[in-house]
Amino acid sequence: MLKHKAFKFRIYPTFEQRIMMGKNFGCCRLVFNYFLNMSKKEYEENKKTLKYKDYAKELNNLKMEKEFLKESDSISLQQALKHLETSFTNFFRNPKVGYPNYKRKNDHNDSYSTINVNNNIAIIDDKHIKLPKIGIVKAKIHRDIPDGYNLKSATVSKVPSGKYYVSILFEYNEEETNYIIDKNNIVGLDYSNKELFVTDDNLFVDPEFLKIYRKGEEKLHKLQRTLSRRQSPNYNKEIKGSKRYEKQRIKVARYHEYLKNKRLDYYNKFTNEIANRYDVVVIEDLDMQEMAKEYKENGKVVYDNAWGMFTNLLKTKLENKGKKLIKVDKYFPSSKKCNVCGHINQLLTIDVRKWECPICHTLHDRDVNASINLKKEGLKILNS
Ligand SMILES: [Zn+2]
Repeated sequence: MLKHKAFKFRIYPTFEQRIMMGKNFGCCRLVFNYFLNMSKKEYEENKKTLKYKDYAKELNNLKMEKEFLKESDSISLQQALKHLETSFTNFFRNPKVGYPNYKRKNDHNDSYSTINVNNNIAIIDDKHIKLPKIGIVKAKIHRDIPDGYNLKSATVSKVPSGKYYVSILFEYNEEETNYIIDKNNIVGLDYSNKELFVTDDNLFVDPEFLKIYRKGEEKLHKLQRTLSRRQSPNYNKEIKGSKRYEKQRIKVARYHEYLKNKRLDYYNKFTNEIANRYDVVVIEDLDMQEMAKEYKENGKVVYDNAWGMFTNLLKTKLENKGKKLIKVDKYFPSSKKCNVCGHINQLLTIDVRKWECPICHTLHDRDVNASINLKKEGLKILNS
């Protein structure tokens, strides 16, 4: 079976290379926005949805008109249009993801993607990487690429702290695993704002990690408050103080990046442990946007927990071992159902942590009860 895996490396482009990358970011942004605008008009006037091949035709005309586009990596421009097409496809499939947005120059997140053609992208050694139009770039290749991995594409990015990265996508062939699942080796993870999740099985996120992470978030919020104070209402690039603002912006971005990486490292380590321990993991198919609304003032925590990222990592790791992640429908009443007698407690609100079943009088811890229900429901799905 063909599989894909991406590796992300820090790169250290020279001044000239940074200028060239900047041009590429700009050209991709321009092309993306130009065709987004065209798609909008075309839909409003003729109710027609444009496809990649329509864009590609028109791109040649645009290049005649705007000569400077020819200086950039031409494949990256095509990739920007493929991204646009995908954004529209996703939007039409699920309008909740939102109509494609214009790319803004000032959001400090820049990237472009390009495809490997005749080895114009290559990892030279553990300190250098070759990129089309850019040449050999200094890099920190911190991990070995296994034999049999074929380099497919690269995404160059500049993050808000000013650092540069390249994410390299590989394709490889993996033998099917013949792992036989033990259905009794199953666990239900019920999402929790405070602890990330709760199980009935003594599995929990390292409290030390949670403590350090929450402290880090407090520090980040403090840095952000200072930043917003420095942004006066008539903030203007020319006026004094903008330097202080920029300095603080980078401080915030660096700390944000540090915290994100720390979380990713931990999630990686922890999802490995879970995937080793269990054969089947059951979670609720949550809509995090809706959850954030339900938690109101605590909504931010819902996003900071990055539950989606956590479950994606878990899914990949389980599936690589031939194991399973089961998602239970979000309308399944995992919290309201008594796992002993099956009574559904419609009166249970989100702030009640412990409750007694009015029918069988079992005392429930809200989250533990939910995790047992998830486990039972997962087993039902598995057996159906
Ligand atoms: Zn009951």
